[in-house]
Amino acid sequence: MKIGVIAGDGIGPEVVREARKVLDASASKNGFSIDYTDILMGGCSIDRYGIPLTDEAIEAAKSCDAVLMGSIGGNTTTSPWYKLPPEKRPEAGLLGIRKALNLFANLRPSILYDELKGACPLKSSIADAGFDMIIVRELTGGLYFGERYTREQNGLTTAVDTLTYSEEEIRRCAVKAFEIASKRRKKVTSVDKANVLDSSRLWRKVTEEVAKEYPDIELSHMLVDNAAMQLVKDPAQFDVIFTENMFGDILSDEAAEITGSIGMLSSASLNETKFGLYEPSGGSAPDIAGKNIANPIATILSAAMMLKFTFDMDKAGSDIEAAVKTVLKEGYRTGDIMSDGMKQVNTDEMGTLIAERI
Ligand code: NAD
Repeated sequence: MKIGVIAGDGIGPEVVREARKVLDASASKNGFSIDYTDILMGGCSIDRYGIPLTDEAIEAAKSCDAVLMGSIGGNTTTSPWYKLPPEKRPEAGLLGIRKALNLFANLRPSILYDELKGACPLKSSIADAGFDMIIVRELTGGLYFGERYTREQNGLTTAVDTLTYSEEEIRRCAVKAFEIASKRRKKVTSVDKANVLDSSRLWRKVTEEVAKEYPDIELSHMLVDNAAMQLVKDPAQFDVIFTENMFGDILSDEAAEITGSIGMLSSASLNETKFGLYEPSGGSAPDIAGKNIANPIATILSAAMMLKFTFDMDKAGSDIEAAVKTVLKEGYRTGDIMSDGMKQVNTDEMGTLIAERI
């Protein structure tokens, strides 16, 4: 396996180090070998080259089967990186690599672990049912990439954003959603606003066409306003949520929030090949960087997603997920998920505990 590693900034290098520890444990158990390539992106690339993402970094990422990333960026008020123009700041590197690698499908699992139910901000009657869903968000189209302008119109300043989707953009992402559902509980909820938007009506039509290729998967449609309510009322009903860019942006943050623990949430961005960029959902957490106290589990679970989605090693990926659950069951917690009676460990110890249980 050729894995590119973007450790990045802040807690990035600390959590990536632990994910590599767990991947190495999986490699020796399952008899595969990993060739890691370190790639600079974000603030560390600005410090070295003056820009957040070089052409060489893009080429290095392209030459790998997958990229494991920590996080990029610093304190947005105090770091000198944020005195630079927007296109030279750390986050421009992330947008640049997504574009260069055509990563159009963003996957964000949202899982409420039995052991962490206390962190869920929902009523216990809802939290007790638990939930385990994954949001598949279209990442390179829609409102965020459409034509936009602000101009004077009839004497009034008027701003325009356009929401455009071609059937092909919808289809390729729908295929990802159905493929993922086929490895899970075989349910896709497509979220749109088809009662108002043309783009949503096309979304629904194309999704239904794709569904015909997956007869064993149950497809339902839900309007986005209802989906926002159902996520806090009955999150257990969802398996795979498939939605467009802006709806997915908002709903995936809502789904993350109801778990109550950002340090546990993995994510992946995929293109039409098996290539993927795998990273935790959280940021570089500059407030706790360099202290060896960050929670590495989100990055470790991102590595598990990599084994499943890029390398089709479902069993090895599930083994990592099971190891995480075992360590939680045994009562080990990093500071962010600590509760009474549990055993607090640091970043390094958490990684070692999980690696030992592979
Ligand atoms: P953040 O996610 O970095 O931090 C928010 C809070 O969550 C902080 O209190 C932090 O300590 C905590 N936290 C996050 N991950 C944690 C972990 N693994 N373990 C324990 N606690 C954790 O969000 P922010 O403070 O808004 O952003 C900080 C920087 O990260 C900014 O520069 C931002 O642009 C960047 N960022 C990068 C990415 C990315 O690389 N994909 C994503 C989001 C934010």
